[in-house]
Amino acid sequence: MILCLRQIIDNDPEVNPYLKVVMVANYNVTLAEKLIPACDISEQISLASKEASGTGNMKFMLNGAVTLGTDDGANVEIHHLVGDENIYIFGDSSETVINRYREGRYCPRDYYDSNPAIREAVDFITGPA
Ligand SMILES: *Cc1c(COP(=O)(O)O)cnc(C)c1O
Repeated sequence: MILCLRQIIDNDPEVNPYLKVVMVANYNVTLAEKLIPACDISEQISLASKEASGTGNMKFMLNGAVTLGTDDGANVEIHHLVGDENIYIFGDSSETVINRYREGRYCPRDYYDSNPAIREAVDFITGPA
């Protein structure tokens, strides 16, 4: 999906001067020391209850990036400490996700089929079938 999004961004003259998707080869501490302080938005997106921890989000936030993410891993503790006004959290809670799996009713395709906004966004990003 991110590669599809990169193609859309690169081909949009209104957006491409301001936004770029890059893949960093051999990410390591030396690169992190340059990238983390340069970051404005730290996206920490994982399905709630599935990410064990996460230290990257702490480093980004301590260096001034705003966190945009799910209620998962270290985002949960950070959210409690910094409050709603200093972090952007979206999506289901861990409890909701765990219950959905326990009851065997998680099917991503159902969201695509039943939610026009999700379908429109996915179709826009992936292009015509
Ligand atoms: C912090 C860090 C990680 C771990 O990041 P997570 O978001 O916790 O997965 C991995 N590699 C480098 C170089 C780091 O600085």
